[in-house]
Amino acid sequence: MRWEDFRRSGNVEDRRGQGGGFGGGGMGRGGLGIGGLIIVGLIAWATGINPAVLIGGAEILLGDGSGTSQQTSPQRQGAPARPLSAEDQKLGDFAAVVLAQTEDVWTPLFKGEGSAYRQPGLVLFSGATRSACGSADSATGPFYCPRDQKIYLDTAFFTELNKRFKAPGDFAAAYVIAHEVGHHVENQIGLLEQVQARQRQASRTEANALSVRVELMADCLAGVWAHHADAQWRILEDGDIEEAMNAAAAIGDDRLQKRQQGYVVPDSFTHGTSTQRVKWFRQGLDKGSLAQCNTFKGAI
Ligand SMILES: [Zn+2]
Repeated sequence: MRWEDFRRSGNVEDRRGQGGGFGGGGMGRGGLGIGGLIIVGLIAWATGINPAVLIGGAEILLGDGSGTSQQTSPQRQGAPARPLSAEDQKLGDFAAVVLAQTEDVWTPLFKGEGSAYRQPGLVLFSGATRSACGSADSATGPFYCPRDQKIYLDTAFFTELNKRFKAPGDFAAAYVIAHEVGHHVENQIGLLEQVQARQRQASRTEANALSVRVELMADCLAGVWAHHADAQWRILEDGDIEEAMNAAAAIGDDRLQKRQQGYVVPDSFTHGTSTQRVKWFRQGLDKGSLAQCNTFKGAI
């Protein structure tokens, strides 16, 4: 993926190297990354935390930070600040470029529909941090908080994506960011609120099925970003699409569950199968339109 020479977003808040500053509390509301880092999701699933507050099982955190946590993190205030390595700087730069591209793609698309795109924030953190949806640590994986309209990202996740999920490549990392921005788009069009209201009335199985549709739509919206970014700036290089597909497949619920527990429980899926994730990313990439990303209509 070509990115070095592109504009950096001004909406990045870099909290890395600040020495932790994390006042404890929990992340029990799920904190499951883009489908990665499933452990917490499984804790939530196994301990019966209400899925209505667990939309997306839940890398969209909706809590208020008061909550249902099984885990508390140690106080880390006062930990010494550390300088960012060259690699950290580069990852931060990369994230700022991808975020800028999502701004430059979504702003005109919203304008075309007669509305204004509100740019989300991106918080880079290392170890642990706070959001309006509760505390997060690196086990949370990337997530979106609708309350403060920010994406939270521990850049160590990219290393994780590479090593643990065998999904290397800069475009795979860009797909992860674009997926989280996809949740922001869903929030702005009022979809998250509607789904959450439906989930409150629904059974666990039905709520999970709705989460899958939310997630697949975010995958499709990531594809829409890639479609326009490539059309405008020719960002794609050979192998990039495969990288993103590989990432989408690697973090599908079926494959994650198999890795984790050796069998698959479809009712507990919150992100969709590998095949579904690849299919919807491809759909967005091919069509380049929000209207083609309606995962709430018909079969997925
Ligand atoms: Zn998601």
